Amino acid sequence: MAVEVGETVVERFLRYVKCDTQSAENSKTYPSTEKQKEFGRRLVEELREMGLEGASIDDYGYVMATLPANIRRAVPVIGFIAHMDTSPALSGKDVKPVIHENYGGEDIVLPGDNTQILRRSENPELSKKIGAGIITGDGTTLLGADDKAGVAEIIDAMHYLVNHPKIQHGTIKIAFTPDEEVGTGVEHFDVQKFGAQYAYTMDGETMGDVENETFSADSVRVTFRGISFHPGYAKGRLVNSIKVASAFVNKLPSDGMSPETTEELEGYVHPYLIEGGVESTCVQFIIRDYDDNELKKKEETLRGLAEEAVRNYPNSNFTFEVEETYRNMKRVLDKHPQVVEKAMDAVRMAGLQPRLGRIRGGTDGARLCSMELPTPNLASGQHNFHSKLEWISIQDMKKATEVIVNLVKVWATNPELIGK
Ligand SMILES: [Zn+2]
Repeated sequence: MAVEVGETVVERFLRYVKCDTQSAENSKTYPSTEKQKEFGRRLVEELREMGLEGASIDDYGYVMATLPANIRRAVPVIGFIAHMDTSPALSGKDVKPVIHENYGGEDIVLPGDNTQILRRSENPELSKKIGAGIITGDGTTLLGADDKAGVAEIIDAMHYLVNHPKIQHGTIKIAFTPDEEVGTGVEHFDVQKFGAQYAYTMDGETMGDVENETFSADSVRVTFRGISFHPGYAKGRLVNSIKVASAFVNKLPSDGMSPETTEELEGYVHPYLIEGGVESTCVQFIIRDYDDNELKKKEETLRGLAEEAVRNYPNSNFTFEVEETYRNMKRVLDKHPQVVEKAMDAVRMAGLQPRLGRIRGGTDGARLCSMELPTPNLASGQHNFHSKLEWISIQDMKKATEVIVNLVKVWATNPELIGK
């Protein structure tokens, strides 16, 4: 029985979004929630039934499987990756996907909560979807297209290839990861075991986007220390670290260098958590910039402000800890230009206009690039992620599946471009 490319992607997607796979911040376990593994086990069964080799889930919740090569000549092993979890920001339980067939351009009022309205004026991409099928949640939860769309598209592309053995391809590896939304999606990812030379995450937004650049990111903890005394007898002795920390936060620039005052190529420093008491107060930051040197400059600026703050509070002091989170993946991808070029070719083959894109954030691919697995990010078609107004079009999901199949073809037909 011949199947069309993307023919069963919607059916898969609708099944997957009904599984609650929400990850959790500050969990002591990996993955952060057990339900992600339950979903992973279901995927493994599905992949086995489909005939993929080595379909398995490990203790960390990583699902991996292989579509063996059907040609003899050596071509690079290519991987496709999507994340299974959904954002802790909104419930992913009892998701009730709604299909709006033949979209006519109107605002879409979601049936479970009529204050949730998907407005065309606020969603320019919707104007390009007249006549398409739009899938939303019912307005009470997120939809989970981020990134169940990527999961469904990768599996559906493998299903298509299994059913079209005449399409020549090298070895294809697929992986589904937990905990992307809490920033630890590839913490235990075994690049060696995965065995791909190059990979693609399917977690981008607008069709045609080929994202090859992320922020470089660090986290910074500034801990101020004071001296505690009985308040009744504290004159000249007590040093309140809460006040030192407040003075420090007040010194942050008000007209720039923050998420709320920057866009495009500008980076920022962002205090997101402050906790403590008289003796000790810790301010936690995320630091972002596209340029590693600028990132370091921002950290030095912060350190300077902390020094200024303690100068006004004798007997206070501070510690300044920097931890690397991820680096702009462009540096690694530029060493392997064929990875992005082939993605652009695959997008063109699907009749779409490829666009190189820059993410004001990170991806699991950025971390994988640091682990010597060059991994740009491709569109899965998801929009308004982490929102009750999340949506995706059926046509885009089919196109994304086609892009994956095209990529597999493109890598198999250009053996002269074999990497290392
Ligand atoms: Zn995502």
